[in-house]
Amino acid sequence: MTMKTPAILLTAMLLNAANVNAAEGISPAWTEVAEADQTLMGDYEGEWVDAPKGHYFEINKPLAAQVINVREGEYQLRFYQQHDSRADPYFEGPGKLEGGEIRFSGNGWQGAVGNDGLTGNASAHGGDIRFELKKVTRSSPTLGIKPPSGAIVLFDGKNFDHWQHGSGREVSWHLLENGAMEVRSAKTDEDRKSGIGGDIQTKQSFGDCRVHLEFRYPVEPGIAGQGRGNSGFFLQKDYEVQILNSYGLHGYWNECGSLYKTSPPQVNAARPPMEWQTYDIDYTASVWKDGKKISPPRITVRHNGVLIHNDAEIPHVTSHSFPGRSAEPQGDGPLRLQDHNNALQFRNIWILPVKKD
Ligand code: MG
Repeated sequence: MTMKTPAILLTAMLLNAANVNAAEGISPAWTEVAEADQTLMGDYEGEWVDAPKGHYFEINKPLAAQVINVREGEYQLRFYQQHDSRADPYFEGPGKLEGGEIRFSGNGWQGAVGNDGLTGNASAHGGDIRFELKKVTRSSPTLGIKPPSGAIVLFDGKNFDHWQHGSGREVSWHLLENGAMEVRSAKTDEDRKSGIGGDIQTKQSFGDCRVHLEFRYPVEPGIAGQGRGNSGFFLQKDYEVQILNSYGLHGYWNECGSLYKTSPPQVNAARPPMEWQTYDIDYTASVWKDGKKISPPRITVRHNGVLIHNDAEIPHVTSHSFPGRSAEPQGDGPLRLQDHNNALQFRNIWILPVKKD
């Protein structure tokens, strides 16, 4: 695919797995994507080259970068020693699309991102050193994983048989031809009146379990923070593992992989928009006796294969409202997917209930 102008919009036909039908009302976020977001946005890996012997970057050669879409034609670049680490970036700054390349400069760093990769140089540690990186796709090791024996397949792309809205009404979300579902939010009062939109949840309730799900968020240029790619996966109905377009963000307690407003992920393992991602979760439900909590829920979460919570205690319901936190579920509860007005897609969801001893 050749670069023409940054304003060129591609149709859904060019999106690898997003062969969604715009005519059915699927979000334009999935059908109109700037070419530079298709080809230049995302993860890069490479190394410092030509650093003199003994130089910091000769000893610490690896270099990784993220090219993050901000709005059409505008990007943010972050450079690290390696992906999926808590380290502060070596450099962070804006880039602009000019003539088919994203150019950036600041703080002694300069370079360009093009179809051949990301190259540039940095004045750091007493030298002016070049770097060369190539675009990479770091797919989750559990993408497409098969349900183990004994698991209940909750969604395999064929139907919503295991799901309903909270009130028991039929699911109004989109079932797509690519084996995924897509959040369908109410856009008008008319939509709301006719029961479109809202969270969906499993008909069945669960306690201790192992669960796998896959999700992805659209690009949504020009939107930031909690309004971009927001959804959530709830266990026992009320404990949310946040889903958010957190690509290139810091990994705070309200971003992707956080136990919402309770604890941040150990690292921010969020991938670029449009890439399929995974949560693999081991959950131990709370135990109650005579209306008293004996033990809180505990959770282990792997995001794209990266351990981000390790048997972490969930001290209260993940509500940002303090009154809401006192109303904890005292028995099994459904799994819930959040409609937060962003057109996220989900696929391959299964659960393996774990029997208590
Ligand atoms: Mg959420």
